[in-house]
Amino acid sequence: MRKRVLVTGGAGFLGSHLCERLLAAGDDVLCADNFFTGTRRNIAHLLDNKAFELLRHDITFPLYVEVDEIYNLACPASPIHYQFDPVQTTKTSVIGAINMLGLAKRVKAKILQASTSEVYGDPTVHPQREDYWGNVNPIGARSCYDEGKRCAETLMFDYVRQHNVQAKVARIFNTYGPRMHPSDGRVVSNFVVQALRGEPITLYGDGDQTRSFCYVDDLVDALVRMMATGRETVGPINVGNPNEFTIRGLAELVIELTGSKSRLVFQPLPADDPRQRRPDISKARAELDWAPKVELREGLMATIRYFDELLASNEKLHAIAAARTRS
Ligand code: NAD
Ligand code: UDP
Repeated sequence: MRKRVLVTGGAGFLGSHLCERLLAAGDDVLCADNFFTGTRRNIAHLLDNKAFELLRHDITFPLYVEVDEIYNLACPASPIHYQFDPVQTTKTSVIGAINMLGLAKRVKAKILQASTSEVYGDPTVHPQREDYWGNVNPIGARSCYDEGKRCAETLMFDYVRQHNVQAKVARIFNTYGPRMHPSDGRVVSNFVVQALRGEPITLYGDGDQTRSFCYVDDLVDALVRMMATGRETVGPINVGNPNEFTIRGLAELVIELTGSKSRLVFQPLPADDPRQRRPDISKARAELDWAPKVELREGLMATIRYFDELLASNEKLHAIAAARTRS
């Protein structure tokens, strides 16, 4: 029988790729999104598919639908987006999780929570394993996201223990690829857009801080595998690419791959910016038989092609609008 799958945040970067993957697997997909950071453009190519349904909905309000599986991805994910309205960010993580867990309980659906490496805060253990409890500032600029996601994890485990809900928690590390928001301020989108426009590449701090970048297709594969596991797999499970790069190294690679003449400029490091981050993915290997396949170079080329086309089409639209204003 076809599965009915709800993807909250389905018009966002990760969500739109996940919807695509589920439709290709023959599922019926209900995408619920309030379009805070997601766009119709991300899912425009899915709208004619009879197995796809789009619902404008804010998950801080209850949702009554009949589904077999829920991927709870709704939440702004980049620092500038989640800090824009921090109270709403916490509400989305906490009240949103309660609403989605209530739905899962009522209709006996499986639920997968998109958690984050941010639950480790600025880690004192490297690489990060799932049994590390983290080093998180509870009152800082990133706390609405970090603590909101931590509380959502707590709720998942309490619903498992108290209500026997079949929940799964994936801790997602930095992921990149086509359909990232061009002005979300995240490092890959920023650097690629700056390089393509020939603008200076903004390194925050000394650029020696590290991150590990996972290509979106690999990430979606891990989420689908995790959902397919039985009741014994709750997680949390780290999903990300264990290859670690300095931010300066990333900037140099983007310049090389775009052939850009952009220069590097240094700007102050944002508050509570983690120094290093790399997932230990032994658990994902053992429990999901999963490891990322796409190298950074290859994933960046696909991302660069996407942004190149996006910027060209935006420029065309601006030119048409300017011509209309003149005439
Ligand atoms: P995104 O901003 O592109 O997508 C989030 C989507 O959620 C958007 O479409 C947005 O409009 C929607 N949304 C936000 N608040 C909502 C609400 N209250 N009700 C309904 N929809 C709402 O971000 P993304 O990178 O695709 O992230 C998806 C999920 O994965 C998030 O939960 C994020 O925390 C998690 N995650 C992402 C990364 C990453 O590197 N991309 C890393 C760790 C965790
Ligand atoms: N960063 C940077 N220049 C930018 C954007 C980000 O140097 O234009 C740095 C940022 O300070 C952080 C890293 O890149 O150290 C990753 O930032 P991002 O916002 O992508 O993700 P997160 O900090 O949540 O891992």
